[in-house]
Amino acid sequence: MIVNARGKASYRWLLTDAERKHIAALLDIQVGDLAIRGTTMNRERQICKVCGKASGLDDIVKDSLDSGTHTKEYVINALRLGPKHETTSLYDIYCSDCGEKHVYKAGWAVYDFSWLY
Ligand SMILES: [Zn+2]
Repeated sequence: MIVNARGKASYRWLLTDAERKHIAALLDIQVGDLAIRGTTMNRERQICKVCGKASGLDDIVKDSLDSGTHTKEYVINALRLGPKHETTSLYDIYCSDCGEKHVYKAGWAVYDFSWLY
């Protein structure tokens, strides 16, 4: 956990190997093309109460593709360059393994930090 000068906490979700492979597969890219180490979020990961998978960036990527919110190309670019604008929105997080909705919404913590690192 990181606390900034304004007292806001953020949490680094360091990509696990499984999460990295899953994201690369979702985006049809090579694992080595995913240069980020992780993402900075407003809360800690949650454990799926159905299948036990920890919430991750792969859940967010899968949902953004499945829902038609973003194209693969958009997501690939966003992961390379970062977001075009700040966002403080919180999103429903769905487990990418079983589809269960997590109890708490999550979002990127962009107060002082890049959402990618
Ligand atoms: Zn699950």
